[in-house]
Amino acid sequence: MWRAWCLTAAWLVWGAAAAAAEPPRPVRAGAAAVDISPRDLPVNMPGGFAENIAEKVHDPLHARALILDDGTTRLALVVVDNVGVGQETAEEIKSLASRRCGIVPERILLSATHSHSCPPANVVDGPPAEVAYRKILIEGTAEAIARAAGRPPPGAGGGGAEPPPPPGGKRPAV
Ligand SMILES: [Zn+2]
Repeated sequence: MWRAWCLTAAWLVWGAAAAAAEPPRPVRAGAAAVDISPRDLPVNMPGGFAENIAEKVHDPLHARALILDDGTTRLALVVVDNVGVGQETAEEIKSLASRRCGIVPERILLSATHSHSCPPANVVDGPPAEVAYRKILIEGTAEAIARAAGRPPPGAGGGGAEPPPPPGGKRPAV
């Protein structure tokens, strides 16, 4: 038992010395926000017990991406204004973003604000405006990741990205 403790202590001392000897690696960061407001209205805004129809966009909805890169690992932290993004939709976003900027899907963390004032993210068979919105959300979120990574898609121009907006209520008007 004593021998195991000595070996463990020696390993910890060696590890600490090795870590102290490494020069600190700078971490580079990039950020972008893309407007993912619905273009086809009206749409239902799920999250409550009753239908909640939006007739127009009161405040824009956004996908916001932050890229961190220490020279060895590059990862993306992404948040979208939505009540919830399903697994299939999330995987489509990650796959599209990965093809555009090279960050592997396993290093893209996607979350949602849980806003009840957004169209549904996951409708593949239903009202045309809601099916169309899923594509806007996938395309816009992948674009936010690619732009934050400094690699906008070819021919994208500069029209879609904007500085991240301040946090606040996102509510298409009813
Ligand atoms: Zn809720």
